[in-house]
Amino acid sequence: MSDLKTTLKPALDRRKRQSLYRYRRILESPQGPEIQIDGRQVLTFCSNDYLGLANHPQVRVAFEQGVQAYGVGSGAAHLVSGHSRAHHALEEALAEFVKRPCALLFSTGYMANLGLISTLLNRQDMIFEDRLNHASLLDGGKFAGAGFIRYRHRNYSDLAAALVTSRARRKLIATDGVFSMDGDLAPLTDLSIIAHRFNAWLMVDDAHGLGVLGEMGRGSLEHFGLGIDQVPILVGTLGKALGTFGAFVAGEEALIETLIQQARTYIYTTAPPAAVAAATLASLRLAQTESWRRDKLAQLIAQFRQGAADLGLQLLDSHTPIQPLVIGDSEKTLKISEALLTKGILITPIRPPTVPTGSARLRITLTAAHAPAQVERLLEALADIV
Ligand SMILES: *Cc1c(COP(=O)(O)O)cnc(C)c1O
Repeated sequence: MSDLKTTLKPALDRRKRQSLYRYRRILESPQGPEIQIDGRQVLTFCSNDYLGLANHPQVRVAFEQGVQAYGVGSGAAHLVSGHSRAHHALEEALAEFVKRPCALLFSTGYMANLGLISTLLNRQDMIFEDRLNHASLLDGGKFAGAGFIRYRHRNYSDLAAALVTSRARRKLIATDGVFSMDGDLAPLTDLSIIAHRFNAWLMVDDAHGLGVLGEMGRGSLEHFGLGIDQVPILVGTLGKALGTFGAFVAGEEALIETLIQQARTYIYTTAPPAAVAAATLASLRLAQTESWRRDKLAQLIAQFRQGAADLGLQLLDSHTPIQPLVIGDSEKTLKISEALLTKGILITPIRPPTVPTGSARLRITLTAAHAPAQVERLLEALADIV
């Protein structure tokens, strides 16, 4: 057998030639509109810290107090001795926030989706997924070994056609609430009607809606006025608008108890630090009470979209903080991103396979921490470069 390097190097070289190679930049500051990265100060439009809470003073203090109370490491899995009062209080607060009987914390959204889907489904079952769903939802279906249907993006006649013919034991429709790379919404009302008609369960991963959409920030479901009867399974993540780390599943008690008993990504892993849960409790309070953050975000989104339209830039039909500028070609996208960086603006290029071939893009994201003048600076730079 040839050595590792000889085996692996050709694919790496190919990636470089195709402008698909990924590099990591080294961050040396907290999150915020202005960060220190690779030794320079830049203005960024590519974080998911939509409400600007990742470095909020109250969240930092709660984190530090959590360390005082619990130390750093949680020491064990939740089912052994790692489930702290702080974790438990956060679960109760999250359940109340999304108006469901129970919530269960997972270490990450990726793990929540893998654990949840593989607990609910096996080879006798079928999962139906929007083509643009997040990788963790797609991988969850594979991990479960379930039959797999990917319907065209937001195309529910395509979905209904697949459901009609399905003889699966259980049917699960899984969708992003806000699509992570496009910023558009899944029309959840239509989906819930289809789910009901075909006797399927509907699961929404609201990683990019939670905290951002709805008057109270309860996300896509609040936006559409839907509850647990229409959407029995809700996943939220804490590393985006809530500014910390982790994820949760919320639903009825039988669902949560089943996950505690069976979800492998819950059971066989160390509980996240209790201090992270304490910090999240603080950021959740801010997200709920400081609705000005959502109002400001809406103003910045409107400002950016108007400015881009004035420049003749074609944005996608998104009214969320995710405002992608699709370029198409990966090399060109990389070049534009590099040109922006020479002007002190960081927007990491998003290329296949994260997005479909030929749809490489600048995934521009806005946060409540941005100032209108910073959005103006972005527009000026785009006017010069794109
Ligand atoms: C980011 C994201 C996840 C993964 O969450 P992590 O906590 O970062 O692992 C899952 N689903 C969607 C839609 C996401 O955007």
